[in-house]
Amino acid sequence: MSENILKWIRPEIRELKAYHVADATGMVKLDAMENPYHLPAELLQQWQQGLATADINRYPDPAASELTQRLAEVMQVPEGQSLVLGNGSDELIQMLAMAIAGEGRSIMSFEPGFVMYDMIARFVGLDYVGIPLAADFSIDMDATRAAIEQHQPALIFIAYPNNPTANLFDAEAVEEIIALAPGLVVVDEAYHPFAQTSFMPKLAEYDQLLVMRTVSKMGLAGLRLGLLCGNPELIEEVNKIRLPYNINVLTQYTASFILDNAGFLEGQAEMIRSDRDHMLKQLSLFDELEVYPSQANFILFKLKQGDATDVFNRLRDAGVLIKNMSPAGGVLSNCLRVTIGTSEENQAFMSALTKALSR
Ligand SMILES: *Cc1c(COP(=O)(O)O)cnc(C)c1O
Repeated sequence: MSENILKWIRPEIRELKAYHVADATGMVKLDAMENPYHLPAELLQQWQQGLATADINRYPDPAASELTQRLAEVMQVPEGQSLVLGNGSDELIQMLAMAIAGEGRSIMSFEPGFVMYDMIARFVGLDYVGIPLAADFSIDMDATRAAIEQHQPALIFIAYPNNPTANLFDAEAVEEIIALAPGLVVVDEAYHPFAQTSFMPKLAEYDQLLVMRTVSKMGLAGLRLGLLCGNPELIEEVNKIRLPYNINVLTQYTASFILDNAGFLEGQAEMIRSDRDHMLKQLSLFDELEVYPSQANFILFKLKQGDATDVFNRLRDAGVLIKNMSPAGGVLSNCLRVTIGTSEENQAFMSALTKALSR
């Protein structure tokens, strides 16, 4: 490819590496915070029959009205607040970034944090300011106050619980940041089913506050569906950026169907929460590991001795795929992240880890 053509791609884009997704073919897949369970058998059949009635020859309802209504109920969006849907919450992050992008503007969040905040900021030419978390992964409020004062961020993302650290930040700290922020604040509640605490009830108190949710981690990652909730006037502005048919016919049908029968999802989340607590206990029995608290459906742990990449490779050779956080460096050096799977998958992971550590 000639440089004459590539020179038209913005330099900051050429510098980026594409988001890498590891090949998981045939593996016990514990790398991406997916819910390991499928629909219960009786729903599976109803759903498949219903799919046959979906009008795939037509464009979808651009406002996804029926689904929006269902989501507002199921997610307990307060009366008087509004919501806009995205093709995954990743698309909502992108819509927000496009809505605020401009000369001298920045997005702020915490490090280590969710990589898409940083990546999407770069896509649209915004500065990204990542405030280092304290050693125990709590928010360093002095550093945060100073950074807000200095950078006047147009948008702050707070993942609640945080990814990849799995902890829930102190609610008072989060609220202080909301109150201090000069611009918008998004509380990203992707892991809400596992943390069971929310800023949704605070929406009416703060015009600048938005709460983001997704159906991905609760069991529907394949659908690509997220929602952003907040003040109707603000949501209406974000909605202008949305491409008209961003939620496709199959997603609209499927998500509405599942939310009509949503009871089983809470049962699955409950199982995952209890398996998480069990795995936290098991992992903490290893002297070689430092295990961090988790309010999510995954666990971050650090090898106090030995090499995390080595252990990651041995697990992979044993057919268990987790996430190696070590290449990110800094406080994540020698850290690994494992998603909670089915009991069998968790056992496969634990026994592969035991072997990997004893070599
Ligand atoms: C996984 C994750 C998301 C992305 O969710 P999608 O709806 O699948 O795009 C958003 N925020 C955080 C913190 C996540 O970990």
